[in-house]
Amino acid sequence: MKTGRTTIAIMGNPNSGKTTLFIKLTGSNQHVGNWPGVTVDRKTGQIHHAGKVVDVVDLPGIYSLSPFTQEEIIAREFVLSDELDGILNIVDATNIERNLYLTMQLIALGLPMVIALNFIDDCRAQGVQIDCQTMSDLLGVRVIPISARHGENMDALLDAVTGTLTPPAHQPDYLHGVGAAIRRVSGLLDGQPLRRASLPFYAEKLLEGDSHVQKTLSLPDPVRHEISHVALSLCSHQNSTDNQMIMADALYDFIEGVVKQCYVRPENPPLTTTERIDRVVMNKWLALPIFALIMCVMFLATFGPIGSTLMDGLDGLIQGRLSPAVESGLLAIGASDWVIGLVCDGIIGGVGGVVSFLPQIVILFLFLSVLEDTGYLARIAFIMDTLLRKIGLSGKSFVPMLMGFGCTTPAVMAARTMENEDDRRMTIMLTPFMSCGAKLPVYALFSAAFFPAHAGLVTISLYVLGIVMAIVAGFILKKTVFRSVSSGFVLELPTYRLPTFKGTVRNMWTRAKDFLTKAGTIIFLMSVLIWLLQNFTPTLGVAENSADSILGAFGQLIAPIFAPLGFGFWQAAVSLLAGLVAKEAVVSTLSVLYGAGGDSAMLATILAGAFSPLTAYCFLVFILLYMPCMSAFATIKREMGGWRWAFGSAAFQIALAWLTAFLIHTVGSLFF
Ligand code: GDP
Ligand code: MG
Repeated sequence: MKTGRTTIAIMGNPNSGKTTLFIKLTGSNQHVGNWPGVTVDRKTGQIHHAGKVVDVVDLPGIYSLSPFTQEEIIAREFVLSDELDGILNIVDATNIERNLYLTMQLIALGLPMVIALNFIDDCRAQGVQIDCQTMSDLLGVRVIPISARHGENMDALLDAVTGTLTPPAHQPDYLHGVGAAIRRVSGLLDGQPLRRASLPFYAEKLLEGDSHVQKTLSLPDPVRHEISHVALSLCSHQNSTDNQMIMADALYDFIEGVVKQCYVRPENPPLTTTERIDRVVMNKWLALPIFALIMCVMFLATFGPIGSTLMDGLDGLIQGRLSPAVESGLLAIGASDWVIGLVCDGIIGGVGGVVSFLPQIVILFLFLSVLEDTGYLARIAFIMDTLLRKIGLSGKSFVPMLMGFGCTTPAVMAARTMENEDDRRMTIMLTPFMSCGAKLPVYALFSAAFFPAHAGLVTISLYVLGIVMAIVAGFILKKTVFRSVSSGFVLELPTYRLPTFKGTVRNMWTRAKDFLTKAGTIIFLMSVLIWLLQNFTPTLGVAENSADSILGAFGQLIAPIFAPLGFGFWQAAVSLLAGLVAKEAVVSTLSVLYGAGGDSAMLATILAGAFSPLTAYCFLVFILLYMPCMSAFATIKREMGGWRWAFGSAAFQIALAWLTAFLIHTVGSLFF
């Protein structure tokens, strides 16, 4: 939407510091991550400086204006629209050649522009000297050296973006006839209904044979013929058949010239810290053991003594203090029995049963956030690629899957960075098999109840089973639905960075807030609803026995489906249905149904009467694999582009969950 105000976009390569700069400029709250998949949605903010207000959009990170991934398409459509008044191009000064490639294409757009040369602190540390004035002169665009992370030189940048931004002073003169060809095609396009300043951009794309631009322009035939004539003669002049290569070469030649004139790099640069760390972490023999070790530490911290002690503490607070206090308070004001039942058994029971898992969730997210922000997550993808490629999968799909350990919804969106459409869809279908944070309360409850001595082992086995099933299912899908060959691996390995304390805390707080909000809204309503449905009969009388209640009747209707899996009783069936709203609701529902009042120890004792260890494990396996919660389901529908895909993958997941649980139950019954 075009407002009366000036709108500028922050554009740059992934990991060039866009989000960091965006927050510095606007003061807006947002997750700052290292992985290119984090900034997928359009984020807007406002700059208030020197009495002026400017709207800023944080666009997804892109390497060029030739769209490949969905993010690049979003970014390109936005810069070509009329919404934009100027571009703030953020450039990673430590990766200058690759970053200027995008800059050259932005210059061709002819929009008012300024370059923020970021990571100037890292350059200084590496002993690199940069002559920004010469760079400005050569590019025809103002260059301001900054450090987004340390807020260095922000005032100069703020002055520039709130002042009058100017279009590039001149278009670069590319060698080998490319510059001349661009000028000729720009001339041919004159008179078309296009932004005049951007003609060089359209000319470049047409010379490259960009089919998307060709389609959207629908040029008259004579013009089209002349353009292809120019493109052909450029080819023959260059003795090549690949116009894209010719253009890229010309751009890189120009960039090399610029960098030569304004960069002075030290003679024998010492190994950077990143290179030194990668020698160990990415070592052929050490990579996998190190990854396994990190995972072990993560799970131990989450499920081991630290996590469970904190959880017990919170549990005790809710059961020992809150619940009795509320009950006596309600008694004192003369509340009726059913109100006390609703509040203590329904609300505190349901919501409290879920909230006590907060410490473990926070610890898990602390680890995921640090893994992501340090840049290790991208390396895991790289490490796994070699392995996964052997069975026809791409390592790139491993990153969304790993994020799936946190929450399926952002993980599904993270798949947007995958170029191959089949791979992307497949990754989306497999990500829900990862044990998301919401499944954790269910695991913790059941493993404490049935496998107290081996609780950690059981939980880890479920995490591993999820990964194994994703690989198996991926293998099946690759042979049937998604047959195309995975594209090459182009995920870059970002520089290692120490995560900032503020960023990590903010990230954890966001997760904790999400979790608590969910407990306070969805789980709350769900608990009340379950309690009500459990206390009234279908004829709206008061149910003496909850099996006669509305919920009991309905649960008994669907319970037979689960009989072959060993848990064919109505309480289990109802909790699985509730789990579709949010996975934590399985715990809150069982807590309400069995009247445990949010006391997980008591609930565990009651559950021990309903399940056997084997059926309890099958129940967990089913929860691990069956379709994800509503919010993830809606995201899958959006990302896959249709209900057919969404229901198709849900059916696939449910079928796989049923079959796996059935298999485990059948085989297990032979032994136990
Ligand atoms: P984006 O992908 O372009 O949004 O990049 P981010 O804003 O997420 O930044 C990637 C990483 O680079 C983060 O860990 C930032 O803290 C770090 N970073 C950003 N700007 C600078 C800077 O100027 N200097 C240093 N040393 N680190 C920076
Ligand atoms: Mg970002």
